[in-house]
Amino acid sequence: MPKMNVKKGDLVEVISGKDKGARGKVLRALPSEGRVVVEGVAMVKKAMRPTQANPQGGIVSQEAPIYVSNVMLVCPSCDKATRVGHDWNDEGKKVRVCKKCGAQF
Ligand SMILES: [Zn+2]
Repeated sequence: MPKMNVKKGDLVEVISGKDKGARGKVLRALPSEGRVVVEGVAMVKKAMRPTQANPQGGIVSQEAPIYVSNVMLVCPSCDKATRVGHDWNDEGKKVRVCKKCGAQF
């Protein structure tokens, strides 16, 4: 089981597969599966039954979960896909550290 080092709301870059190079926000993290759902990545068409929210039903595009090992976190400071380390800030809170520029986030 790969360790999840991304969480909901993070910006990530896809590093392998057909969406390689694509960036998007993590919409959902699925730690038990080691997968994440990334906005606009791994779009699949899905046939939907009509529901109250979508009375027509029909075909919709939806993100499929992808393995967290296929994405890398994008550092908000240097804007590069990076490995992250962990550190503690002045308040003793655990923070993530960009291995490229050293920024904490
Ligand atoms: Zn950085």
